[in-house]
Amino acid sequence: MFSRAAEASPDGLVFLDAEDRIAWRNRVAEQHLGLHGERDAGLPVANLIRLPGFADFLARARAGESLAYRPQERKGKAYSVEAIRFGTDRKLLISTDVSHIERAENMRRDFVANVSHELRTPLTVISGYIEHMHDDAAPDPAEWKRQMEMVNDQAGRMLRLVDDLLTLSRLEDDTQPPGEEEFDVRDLIYDISAEGRRLSGGRHSITCEVAPTLLKGSREELRSAFSNLVSNAVRYTPEGGRIVLHWALREGKGVFSVEDSGIGIPEEHIPRLTERFYRVDRGRSRASGGTGLGLAIVKHILLRHQAALEIGSVAGAGSTFAAVFPAWRLRPLGEARS
Ligand code: ADP
Repeated sequence: MFSRAAEASPDGLVFLDAEDRIAWRNRVAEQHLGLHGERDAGLPVANLIRLPGFADFLARARAGESLAYRPQERKGKAYSVEAIRFGTDRKLLISTDVSHIERAENMRRDFVANVSHELRTPLTVISGYIEHMHDDAAPDPAEWKRQMEMVNDQAGRMLRLVDDLLTLSRLEDDTQPPGEEEFDVRDLIYDISAEGRRLSGGRHSITCEVAPTLLKGSREELRSAFSNLVSNAVRYTPEGGRIVLHWALREGKGVFSVEDSGIGIPEEHIPRLTERFYRVDRGRSRASGGTGLGLAIVKHILLRHQAALEIGSVAGAGSTFAAVFPAWRLRPLGEARS
């Protein structure tokens, strides 16, 4: 009865005798600590768990003290181990899987480092220009104007970054999109295509193919997600390229897609594109005003609408980004309008 209960524990349990030899362990402890059932029974545990400081830690077996164990052969795994005294001279080792906590902590650290770096770069440029302008005793008006424009560009870049960070943090805070409504998806897509044409400034052909449908969701959030995809298509498609905004029903689901004839994306990058600050080509993203957060925002908005992002691309030939909505969010409307 007792061993069945101990086997059911999500933590690893190892009972040690007076000489710190393994008297009993559950299967979870075998997995966590890399122990092998029959072979290791009765052996001193300090011979089996090769961890600097482990012997001293075991000798102390102090309440509340824990040791981190990251097995070299199992990358990304981390366990917290505690040693507890019981009876007159017995000990219990408890191992807890903390891999997910370490992963979250690493992501948080990477994120802070990335944000700091992204803000530092434009700030360095701005302060360089200001210093130069301050020291320039006889400024040439044309040169002064050019420098002011550079400062303005960099300030704009910081503003876009902070805006995107605020959007992301708002999206992460509450899981429910605000104010869901049912709206005609055509109106939204026509608005966004007009916005895309403004951004393109006549450098691309931008067309729409839309099946009339009512879509239920946050119009404001979906506008932001769709226009991010269109803005990417414009920014990553060379002059003369073609961009098509598409809305169609596929097996009952609603699919919004943006297809471009742009630079495309090598396959190995595709699974990572929605990570915050992940870019295929950092220089190109920056030069076109990218923050590296657009697709992370798109992914969050779609998740809040139970929709999936599908990415297809051929390097050098173009990309298609599609948002696939569940049937219950849709209501088809009459005939198509071009
Ligand atoms: P960014 O601000 O850098 O555009 P995003 O999160 O929107 O950030 O996109 C991440 C990366 O995905 C981009 O840096 C770019 O490398 C790639 N990408 C996104 N959309 C496209 C596209 N339509 N064509 C080619 N590459 C794209």
